[in-house]
Amino acid sequence: MRPLSAKLSKRHFLGWLGAVPVGMAALKVVGGQGISAAMAAEAPKAGTTGPFTLPKFPYALDALNGAIDARTMEIHHGKHHQAYVDNLNKEAAKDSALQGKTLEEIVGSISKYSTAVRNNGGGHWNHSFFWDIMSPKASEPSPELMAAINQSFGSLDGMKAKFEEAGTKQFGSGWAWLIVTKGGKLEITSTPNQDNPLMDDAKVKGKPILGNDVWEHAYYLRYQNKRGDYLKAWWKVVNWAKVSEHYANALKA
Ligand code: MN
Repeated sequence: MRPLSAKLSKRHFLGWLGAVPVGMAALKVVGGQGISAAMAAEAPKAGTTGPFTLPKFPYALDALNGAIDARTMEIHHGKHHQAYVDNLNKEAAKDSALQGKTLEEIVGSISKYSTAVRNNGGGHWNHSFFWDIMSPKASEPSPELMAAINQSFGSLDGMKAKFEEAGTKQFGSGWAWLIVTKGGKLEITSTPNQDNPLMDDAKVKGKPILGNDVWEHAYYLRYQNKRGDYLKAWWKVVNWAKVSEHYANALKA
């Protein structure tokens, strides 16, 4: 495991965050406890300029090279995701209704907030989730998840085909999702921009257990216009152990 900071820390984090006023450090940190307390807790102190922080990668930049090259990972995390975090913190500094809220609370009642909060709060949640459901280590769906996949889609390949179709057909930028609906069923959906199925005004609502970023910034360096090729290759780096964990938790709640 090589932490991202080994490559990015000085150049990126100081470059991006060095100019932030000291007073902002006094903001509550509770919002950073959003998606994964462990990941948030690992986030670099230098990046703590508001309630939300960029989670570290749980693997090396080049670890997912079987599907995603290191340069794409570096820009995607260090520039794109960092920008969502920074912009969300700017909104939090302006709007006290955001302070003391977890990221899930904000996303779950997103219709109450501005477009900037929607785009950057959604972007922060989606990317934090995304890094966490990928791994260089091969794993398989749990027997429970596999049974549910078979029931809803006939087979794992059937689910993959439907998921790839959702990702390919999403016009412009967005995400493809495998979710657990309120009734405990698996469903595949897609969302535009940085929306997600947790949002109170989502067309298809549910708890994401798997999601792929189909913005061009996620794949363009290696795949250019071939989004379908990216979606196919991406299965090589899915962390099924984590997806299975999400599945079990979604059923519990
Ligand atoms: Mn992205």
